Amino acid sequence: MKPDLRSLSHEKLVQYITSLGEKPFRAKQIETWLWQKSCTDFDQMSDLPKSLRERIAADFQIHPVKVDQIQRSADGTIKNAVRLRDGMVVESVLIPTEKRITACISSQVGCSLDCRFCATARLKRMRNLDAQEIYDQVVAIREQAEYYYGRKLTNIVYMGMGEPLLNYANVMRSIEKITSPSGLGMSAKRITLSTVGIAKMIKTLADDNPGVKLAVSLHSAIDEVRSRIMPINQTNNIATLTEALEYWYTRTRSRITFEYVVWKGINDRDEDISALVKLCKRIPTKVNLIEYNSIGDPNFEQADPERIEAYKHALERIGVVAKIRRSRGKDIDAACGQLANKNDVAPEIPKKELPKTL
Ligand code: SAH
Repeated sequence: MKPDLRSLSHEKLVQYITSLGEKPFRAKQIETWLWQKSCTDFDQMSDLPKSLRERIAADFQIHPVKVDQIQRSADGTIKNAVRLRDGMVVESVLIPTEKRITACISSQVGCSLDCRFCATARLKRMRNLDAQEIYDQVVAIREQAEYYYGRKLTNIVYMGMGEPLLNYANVMRSIEKITSPSGLGMSAKRITLSTVGIAKMIKTLADDNPGVKLAVSLHSAIDEVRSRIMPINQTNNIATLTEALEYWYTRTRSRITFEYVVWKGINDRDEDISALVKLCKRIPTKVNLIEYNSIGDPNFEQADPERIEAYKHALERIGVVAKIRRSRGKDIDAACGQLANKNDVAPEIPKKELPKTL
Protein backbone atom coordinates (compact mmCIF):
# COMPACT_ATOMS: atom_id res chain seq x y z
CA MET A 1 0.00 0.00 0.00
CA LYS A 2 1.30 3.48 -0.87
CA PRO A 3 1.94 5.73 2.13
CA ASP A 4 -0.59 8.37 3.14
CA LEU A 5 0.58 11.80 2.03
CA ARG A 6 -0.79 13.23 5.26
CA SER A 7 1.66 11.21 7.30
CA LEU A 8 4.51 13.42 6.04
CA SER A 9 5.56 16.25 8.33
CA HIS A 10 5.81 19.71 6.79
CA GLU A 11 9.58 19.34 6.49
CA LYS A 12 9.33 15.93 4.83
CA LEU A 13 6.71 17.23 2.42
CA VAL A 14 8.91 20.18 1.43
CA GLN A 15 11.79 17.76 0.96
CA TYR A 16 9.72 15.52 -1.27
CA ILE A 17 8.34 18.39 -3.33
CA THR A 18 11.74 20.01 -3.88
CA SER A 19 13.22 16.61 -4.79
CA LEU A 20 10.79 16.68 -7.70
CA GLY A 21 12.24 20.02 -8.81
CA GLU A 22 9.21 21.98 -7.54
CA LYS A 23 9.21 25.16 -5.47
CA PRO A 24 8.70 24.73 -1.68
CA PHE A 25 5.52 26.86 -1.72
CA ARG A 26 3.77 23.90 -3.36
CA ALA A 27 3.97 22.12 -0.02
CA LYS A 28 1.78 24.79 1.60
CA GLN A 29 -0.73 24.54 -1.23
CA ILE A 30 -0.87 20.78 -0.85
CA GLU A 31 -1.30 21.02 2.92
CA THR A 32 -4.23 23.36 2.52
CA TRP A 33 -5.92 20.77 0.30
CA LEU A 34 -5.06 17.91 2.59
CA TRP A 35 -6.07 19.44 5.90
CA GLN A 36 -8.22 22.56 5.53
CA LYS A 37 -10.24 21.23 2.61
CA SER A 38 -10.03 17.53 3.54
CA CYS A 39 -9.46 16.80 -0.12
CA THR A 40 -9.05 13.08 -0.80
CA ASP A 41 -8.48 13.18 -4.55
CA PHE A 42 -5.25 14.53 -6.02
CA ASP A 43 -7.10 15.41 -9.22
CA GLN A 44 -9.11 18.03 -7.36
CA MET A 45 -6.02 19.95 -6.26
CA SER A 46 -6.68 22.45 -9.00
CA ASP A 47 -3.88 24.92 -8.32
CA LEU A 48 -1.20 22.26 -8.83
CA PRO A 49 0.12 21.46 -12.31
CA LYS A 50 -1.36 18.25 -13.70
CA SER A 51 2.05 16.61 -14.01
CA LEU A 52 2.75 17.21 -10.33
CA ARG A 53 -0.64 15.82 -9.31
CA GLU A 54 0.03 12.69 -11.32
CA ARG A 55 3.48 12.27 -9.84
CA ILE A 56 2.18 12.62 -6.27
CA ALA A 57 -0.61 10.16 -7.00
CA ALA A 58 1.98 7.66 -8.22
CA ASP A 59 3.89 7.90 -4.94
CA PHE A 60 1.18 8.47 -2.34
CA GLN A 61 -2.42 7.83 -1.37
CA ILE A 62 -4.87 9.57 0.91
CA HIS A 63 -6.74 7.32 3.32
CA PRO A 64 -9.61 9.22 4.90
CA VAL A 65 -11.56 7.50 7.66
CA LYS A 66 -15.06 6.39 6.79
CA VAL A 67 -18.07 6.87 9.02
CA ASP A 68 -19.65 3.44 8.67
CA GLN A 69 -22.61 3.81 10.91
CA ILE A 70 -24.35 6.66 12.65
CA GLN A 71 -26.67 6.23 15.62
CA ARG A 72 -28.72 9.04 17.06
CA SER A 73 -29.82 9.14 20.69
CA ALA A 74 -33.18 10.44 21.86
CA ASP A 75 -31.27 13.36 23.44
CA GLY A 76 -29.65 14.34 20.13
CA THR A 77 -26.26 12.76 20.79
CA ILE A 78 -24.80 11.13 17.70
CA LYS A 79 -22.42 8.19 17.83
CA ASN A 80 -20.24 7.29 14.86
CA ALA A 81 -18.58 4.01 14.09
CA VAL A 82 -15.45 5.17 12.31
CA ARG A 83 -13.64 2.77 10.01
CA LEU A 84 -9.89 3.30 9.78
CA ARG A 85 -7.53 2.63 6.86
CA ASP A 86 -6.93 -0.98 7.91
CA GLY A 87 -10.58 -1.77 8.61
CA MET A 88 -10.39 -1.32 12.38
CA VAL A 89 -13.18 0.63 14.01
CA VAL A 90 -13.27 3.31 16.71
CA GLU A 91 -16.14 5.43 17.94
CA SER A 92 -16.63 9.17 18.11
CA VAL A 93 -19.53 11.12 19.57
CA LEU A 94 -21.22 14.45 18.83
CA ILE A 95 -22.76 15.94 21.96
CA PRO A 96 -25.12 18.86 21.47
CA THR A 97 -26.06 21.16 24.34
CA GLU A 98 -27.76 24.53 24.31
CA LYS A 99 -24.54 26.45 24.08
CA ARG A 100 -22.07 23.98 22.64
CA ILE A 101 -21.51 21.20 20.22
CA THR A 102 -18.75 18.96 21.46
CA ALA A 103 -16.87 16.28 19.56
CA CYS A 104 -15.67 13.40 21.71
CA ILE A 105 -12.93 11.62 19.80
CA SER A 106 -10.85 8.46 20.13
CA SER A 107 -7.06 8.28 20.12
CA GLN A 108 -6.43 4.52 20.19
CA VAL A 109 -8.15 1.37 18.95
CA GLY A 110 -9.07 -0.26 22.25
CA CYS A 111 -7.17 0.63 25.41
CA SER A 112 -4.36 -0.85 27.46
CA LEU A 113 -5.32 0.59 30.83
CA ASP A 114 -7.82 -1.80 32.33
CA CYS A 115 -9.89 0.62 34.42
CA ARG A 116 -12.37 -1.76 36.01
CA PHE A 117 -15.48 0.31 35.32
CA CYS A 118 -14.88 1.16 31.66
CA ALA A 119 -16.23 -0.75 28.67
CA THR A 120 -13.38 0.30 26.39
CA ALA A 121 -10.97 -1.42 28.79
CA ARG A 122 -12.53 -4.73 27.82
CA LEU A 123 -11.18 -4.29 24.31
CA LYS A 124 -7.55 -5.11 23.80
CA ARG A 125 -5.40 -2.17 22.72
CA MET A 126 -4.84 -2.83 19.04
CA ARG A 127 -2.97 0.24 17.89
CA ASN A 128 -2.55 3.99 18.06
CA LEU A 129 -4.50 6.20 15.73
CA ASP A 130 -2.56 8.32 13.25
CA ALA A 131 -2.86 12.08 13.55
CA GLN A 132 -5.01 12.17 10.42
CA GLU A 133 -7.34 9.49 11.77
CA ILE A 134 -7.89 11.60 14.87
CA TYR A 135 -8.29 14.74 12.79
CA ASP A 136 -10.79 13.10 10.43
CA GLN A 137 -13.10 12.28 13.35
CA VAL A 138 -13.28 16.00 14.10
CA VAL A 139 -13.93 16.87 10.45
CA ALA A 140 -16.78 14.35 10.27
CA ILE A 141 -18.42 15.65 13.45
CA ARG A 142 -17.97 19.23 12.29
CA GLU A 143 -19.92 18.38 9.14
CA GLN A 144 -22.57 16.56 11.15
CA ALA A 145 -22.99 19.58 13.43
CA GLU A 146 -23.73 21.72 10.38
CA TYR A 147 -25.83 19.10 8.67
CA TYR A 148 -28.01 17.88 11.52
CA TYR A 149 -28.09 20.95 13.73
CA GLY A 150 -27.09 23.88 11.48
CA ARG A 151 -24.52 24.80 14.11
CA LYS A 152 -20.78 25.04 14.44
CA LEU A 153 -18.61 22.61 16.30
CA THR A 154 -17.41 24.49 19.39
CA ASN A 155 -15.42 22.03 21.54
CA ILE A 156 -13.32 18.93 21.24
CA VAL A 157 -12.63 16.44 24.00
CA TYR A 158 -10.12 13.59 23.76
CA MET A 159 -12.41 11.41 25.84
CA GLY A 160 -13.29 8.63 23.45
CA MET A 161 -11.51 5.31 23.24
CA GLY A 162 -7.91 5.05 24.38
CA GLU A 163 -5.41 7.03 26.40
CA PRO A 164 -4.27 10.14 24.53
CA LEU A 165 -1.06 10.51 26.54
CA LEU A 166 0.02 7.03 25.43
CA ASN A 167 -0.25 8.14 21.80
CA TYR A 168 1.46 11.43 22.44
CA ALA A 169 3.12 12.32 19.12
CA ASN A 170 0.04 11.65 17.01
CA VAL A 171 -2.27 13.39 19.46
CA MET A 172 0.00 16.45 19.46
CA ARG A 173 0.08 16.51 15.69
CA SER A 174 -3.70 16.24 15.51
CA ILE A 175 -3.98 19.19 17.91
CA GLU A 176 -1.59 21.17 15.78
CA LYS A 177 -3.68 20.53 12.66
CA ILE A 178 -6.99 21.20 14.41
CA THR A 179 -5.72 24.56 15.66
CA SER A 180 -3.65 25.60 12.66
CA PRO A 181 -5.11 28.24 10.30
CA SER A 182 -4.20 25.87 7.46
CA GLY A 183 -6.21 23.16 9.24
CA LEU A 184 -9.45 23.77 11.12
CA GLY A 185 -8.32 26.97 12.83
CA MET A 186 -10.02 26.14 16.12
CA SER A 187 -8.81 27.61 19.38
CA ALA A 188 -6.70 25.30 21.55
CA LYS A 189 -8.67 26.57 24.56
CA ARG A 190 -11.65 24.66 23.22
CA ILE A 191 -9.80 21.38 23.30
CA THR A 192 -9.66 19.18 26.40
CA LEU A 193 -7.33 16.27 26.71
CA SER A 194 -8.45 13.69 29.25
CA THR A 195 -5.98 11.34 30.85
CA VAL A 196 -5.99 8.50 33.30
CA GLY A 197 -3.04 10.32 34.89
CA ILE A 198 0.32 9.39 33.37
CA ALA A 199 2.55 11.65 35.46
CA LYS A 200 5.56 11.78 33.15
CA MET A 201 3.50 12.61 30.09
CA ILE A 202 1.52 15.29 31.94
CA LYS A 203 4.85 17.01 32.55
CA THR A 204 5.87 16.63 28.92
CA LEU A 205 2.53 18.12 27.87
CA ALA A 206 3.07 21.00 30.30
CA ASP A 207 6.48 21.65 28.74
CA ASP A 208 5.14 21.53 25.19
CA ASN A 209 2.08 23.48 26.29
CA PRO A 210 -0.13 23.45 23.20
CA GLY A 211 -2.69 25.57 25.06
CA VAL A 212 -5.25 22.82 25.60
CA LYS A 213 -7.13 22.10 28.83
CA LEU A 214 -6.31 19.07 30.92
CA ALA A 215 -8.81 16.72 32.54
CA VAL A 216 -7.78 13.88 34.82
CA SER A 217 -9.92 10.81 35.47
CA LEU A 218 -9.35 10.69 39.20
CA HIS A 219 -12.24 8.75 40.78
CA SER A 220 -10.39 8.50 44.08
CA ALA A 221 -7.74 10.47 45.95
CA ILE A 222 -6.82 7.47 48.11
CA ASP A 223 -4.14 5.16 46.70
CA GLU A 224 -5.60 1.92 47.90
CA VAL A 225 -9.01 2.66 46.49
CA ARG A 226 -7.72 4.07 43.23
CA SER A 227 -5.26 1.23 42.63
CA ARG A 228 -8.09 -1.24 42.98
CA ILE A 229 -10.30 0.37 40.34
CA MET A 230 -7.57 1.88 38.14
CA PRO A 231 -4.44 -0.31 37.95
CA ILE A 232 -2.46 2.62 36.47
CA ASN A 233 -2.37 4.01 40.00
CA GLN A 234 0.03 1.24 41.02
CA THR A 235 2.76 2.92 38.98
CA ASN A 236 1.41 6.49 38.98
CA ASN A 237 0.17 6.97 42.51
CA ILE A 238 -1.59 10.00 43.96
CA ALA A 239 1.66 11.61 45.18
CA THR A 240 3.34 11.26 41.79
CA LEU A 241 0.23 12.46 40.03
CA THR A 242 -0.13 15.42 42.38
CA GLU A 243 3.44 16.46 41.73
CA ALA A 244 2.86 16.28 37.96
CA LEU A 245 -0.34 18.30 38.27
CA GLU A 246 1.40 20.97 40.34
CA TYR A 247 4.03 21.12 37.63
CA TRP A 248 1.30 21.43 35.01
CA TYR A 249 -0.31 24.32 36.83
CA THR A 250 2.96 26.15 37.45
CA ARG A 251 3.82 25.88 33.79
CA THR A 252 0.45 26.56 32.15
CA ARG A 253 -1.64 28.37 34.77
CA SER A 254 -4.52 26.33 33.42
CA ARG A 255 -6.97 24.89 35.91
CA ILE A 256 -7.33 21.10 35.83
CA THR A 257 -10.65 19.29 35.75
CA PHE A 258 -11.05 16.13 37.80
CA GLU A 259 -13.51 13.61 36.44
CA TYR A 260 -15.00 11.67 39.28
CA VAL A 261 -17.65 8.97 39.51
CA VAL A 262 -19.01 8.08 42.94
CA TRP A 263 -19.78 4.41 43.49
CA LYS A 264 -21.63 2.77 46.35
CA GLY A 265 -19.26 1.09 48.81
CA ILE A 266 -16.17 2.09 46.83
CA ASN A 267 -15.59 5.82 47.19
CA ASP A 268 -18.69 7.20 48.89
CA ARG A 269 -17.37 7.37 52.48
CA ASP A 270 -16.59 10.58 54.33
CA GLU A 271 -12.89 9.79 54.20
CA ASP A 272 -13.07 9.56 50.39
CA ILE A 273 -14.55 13.04 50.33
CA SER A 274 -11.92 14.41 52.74
CA ALA A 275 -9.12 12.98 50.60
CA LEU A 276 -10.45 14.72 47.49
CA VAL A 277 -10.95 17.98 49.38
CA LYS A 278 -7.36 17.79 50.62
CA LEU A 279 -6.06 17.23 47.10
CA CYS A 280 -8.13 20.09 45.69
CA LYS A 281 -6.65 22.42 48.28
CA ARG A 282 -3.23 21.79 46.74
CA ILE A 283 -4.05 22.17 43.07
CA PRO A 284 -6.46 24.62 41.40
CA THR A 285 -9.16 22.34 40.05
CA LYS A 286 -12.74 22.01 39.05
CA VAL A 287 -14.54 18.74 39.69
CA ASN A 288 -17.02 17.04 37.39
CA LEU A 289 -19.04 14.48 39.31
CA ILE A 290 -20.00 12.20 36.45
CA GLU A 291 -22.98 9.92 36.45
CA TYR A 292 -21.98 6.26 36.30
CA ASN A 293 -22.95 4.43 33.16
CA SER A 294 -23.40 0.80 33.94
CA ILE A 295 -21.39 -1.66 31.92
CA GLY A 296 -23.06 -4.62 33.56
CA ASP A 297 -20.60 -5.27 36.40
CA PRO A 298 -22.48 -5.78 39.69
CA ASN A 299 -19.45 -4.52 41.67
CA PHE A 300 -20.06 -1.02 40.42
CA GLU A 301 -23.21 0.79 41.33
CA GLN A 302 -23.82 4.52 41.34
CA ALA A 303 -23.77 5.98 44.87
CA ASP A 304 -26.87 7.42 46.51
CA PRO A 305 -27.64 10.97 45.36
CA GLU A 306 -27.04 12.35 48.85
CA ARG A 307 -23.47 11.04 48.84
CA ILE A 308 -22.82 12.79 45.54
CA GLU A 309 -24.35 15.94 47.01
CA ALA A 310 -22.06 15.51 50.02
CA TYR A 311 -19.07 15.60 47.67
CA LYS A 312 -20.43 18.70 45.96
CA HIS A 313 -21.02 20.57 49.21
CA ALA A 314 -17.65 19.65 50.68
CA LEU A 315 -15.91 20.91 47.55
CA GLU A 316 -17.96 24.07 47.34
CA ARG A 317 -17.17 24.80 50.96
CA ILE A 318 -13.51 25.20 50.00
CA GLY A 319 -14.39 27.23 46.89
CA VAL A 320 -13.99 24.47 44.30
CA VAL A 321 -16.53 24.45 41.49
CA ALA A 322 -18.19 21.03 41.47
CA LYS A 323 -20.77 20.07 38.88
CA ILE A 324 -22.92 17.00 38.77
CA ARG A 325 -22.89 15.86 35.15
CA ARG A 326 -25.75 13.91 33.66
CA SER A 327 -24.82 11.46 30.96
CA ARG A 328 -25.67 11.92 27.34
CA GLY A 329 -26.35 9.30 24.70
CA LYS A 330 -26.83 6.44 27.16
CA ASP A 331 -29.51 4.76 25.05
CA ILE A 332 -27.01 4.20 22.23
CA ASP A 333 -24.04 3.32 24.47
CA ALA A 334 -22.39 6.62 23.61
CA ALA A 335 -21.87 7.87 27.17
CA CYS A 336 -18.57 8.03 29.10
CA GLY A 337 -17.01 4.62 29.46
CA GLN A 338 -19.50 2.90 27.18
CA LEU A 339 -17.60 3.04 23.90
CA ALA A 340 -16.92 -0.54 22.94
CA ASN A 341 -17.82 -0.93 19.28
CA LYS A 342 -21.23 -2.36 20.13
CA ASN A 343 -23.14 -0.73 17.32
CA ASP A 344 -26.27 -2.79 17.18
CA VAL A 345 -28.45 -1.33 19.89
CA ALA A 346 -30.25 1.52 18.17
CA PRO A 347 -31.70 1.86 14.72
CA GLU A 348 -29.32 3.26 12.19
CA ILE A 349 -30.01 6.58 10.54
CA PRO A 350 -30.68 5.66 6.91
CA LYS A 351 -27.64 6.15 4.74
CA LYS A 352 -29.40 8.55 2.38
CA GLU A 353 -29.57 11.11 5.16
CA LEU A 354 -25.80 11.37 5.22
CA PRO A 355 -24.00 14.36 3.81
CA LYS A 356 -22.14 13.43 0.64
CA THR A 357 -18.75 14.10 2.11
CA LEU A 358 -19.04 11.47 4.83
N1 SAH B 1 -8.17 7.39 28.88
C1 SAH B 1 -8.63 8.73 29.06
C2 SAH B 1 -9.68 9.10 28.06
C3 SAH B 1 -11.01 8.40 28.23
S1 SAH B 1 -12.09 9.57 28.87
C4 SAH B 1 -9.10 8.93 30.49
O1 SAH B 1 -9.17 7.95 31.21
O2 SAH B 1 -9.33 10.06 30.90
C5 SAH B 1 -13.44 8.65 29.38
C6 SAH B 1 -13.94 9.13 30.72
O3 SAH B 1 -15.06 8.33 31.10
C7 SAH B 1 -12.89 8.95 31.80
O4 SAH B 1 -12.98 10.01 32.72
C8 SAH B 1 -13.35 7.67 32.46
O5 SAH B 1 -12.87 7.55 33.77
C9 SAH B 1 -14.84 7.81 32.40
N2 SAH B 1 -15.56 6.54 32.48
C10 SAH B 1 -15.10 5.33 32.14
N3 SAH B 1 -16.03 4.40 32.35
C11 SAH B 1 -17.11 5.04 32.82
C12 SAH B 1 -18.42 4.63 33.18
N4 SAH B 1 -18.80 3.36 33.08
N5 SAH B 1 -19.29 5.58 33.60
C13 SAH B 1 -18.93 6.87 33.67
N6 SAH B 1 -17.72 7.33 33.32
C14 SAH B 1 -16.81 6.41 32.91
